[in-house]
Amino acid sequence: MELLAQLSETPGASGREDRIRNLIKEMVEPHADNVTVDPLGNLICLKRATRQSEQPPRRVMVSCHMDEIAFYVRRIDDNGFIRIKEVGGFDTRNLYARQVLIQGREDILGVLNPGVPPIHLAKEEDKKKSLQINDFYIDTGLSKEELTELARTGDPVTLLQTFRTMGKLATGKAMDNRAACWVGIRLLQEIQDTPNDLYVAFTTQEEVGLRGAKTCAYSIEPQIGIAVDVTLAVDTPGTPKDEGVTELGKGVAIKVMDSGSISDPALLEEFIELARQEEIKHQLEILPRGGTDAGGIQLTRGGVRVITLSVPCRYVHTVTETIHQEDLRNTVDLLIAYLSR
Ligand SMILES: [Zn+2]
Repeated sequence: MELLAQLSETPGASGREDRIRNLIKEMVEPHADNVTVDPLGNLICLKRATRQSEQPPRRVMVSCHMDEIAFYVRRIDDNGFIRIKEVGGFDTRNLYARQVLIQGREDILGVLNPGVPPIHLAKEEDKKKSLQINDFYIDTGLSKEELTELARTGDPVTLLQTFRTMGKLATGKAMDNRAACWVGIRLLQEIQDTPNDLYVAFTTQEEVGLRGAKTCAYSIEPQIGIAVDVTLAVDTPGTPKDEGVTELGKGVAIKVMDSGSISDPALLEEFIELARQEEIKHQLEILPRGGTDAGGIQLTRGGVRVITLSVPCRYVHTVTETIHQEDLRNTVDLLIAYLSR
């Protein structure tokens, strides 16, 4: 899990993915025939077909977005407090009392809190107030003068959280979608033999509208697109059982649909059948709201057949995103089984 720890803890705000991209690049370079970075910052790794058939090899794109929901510095006020703009969908209830890392001229530690009276002074109406991102600010302990030397509008800000394993689970920030980056890296490292030209794309700006996947798919021109992402595990107290999406530890989730894509029915059949044959633990997934890179890939050029493989995840879009280590392994196994055929 050391690799996943590194992936989880490395910053990579949407649109500012350079650090996470550099880390992944280092890991995949020895295992790909060609590695490129496109103008949107996507890292595209090609592993050429190792087997010849009568047909030219099929191009299969496996997409793992590497960006994480984060913030940009919006302004620094006269007292040195930083106001922020979010990139990606935060639930403000999860943003109280967080440590953050501002990536300015150097890394600056800060704490994130909303501008409301402390509980000891709060009136009833203060407690009920629903907070917006604009209510939050970052305290760095620095004065305006000190801070403006080091940071400015547009610097990325990511949440800080130490990665930990607990039992068979693993928890940390940005499991969405570094869990999938782990899968993509392992896939490149482990796959031995494939009749496909395999493109593993570590995409940018998924959290702000699948932007990287779109340019990536246009240039790769795949016949098949497979997005790898996390999905909701709704298997915890207080969540209605009949609205469950997936459960942790029940295997890789083969997506039927979400609000951005409906998986190609033939691909869906093929993946289910293969998982059965290979005895890979799996579950089927319908996600009522949310989407993956598959939504962007499918609409490229004249259309691309797509499917998503999901890693079940609890507490999505918090710093305690939690996955099951075996579900991760199942995801790699199913991809390798499919791509080796
Ligand atoms: Zn995601």
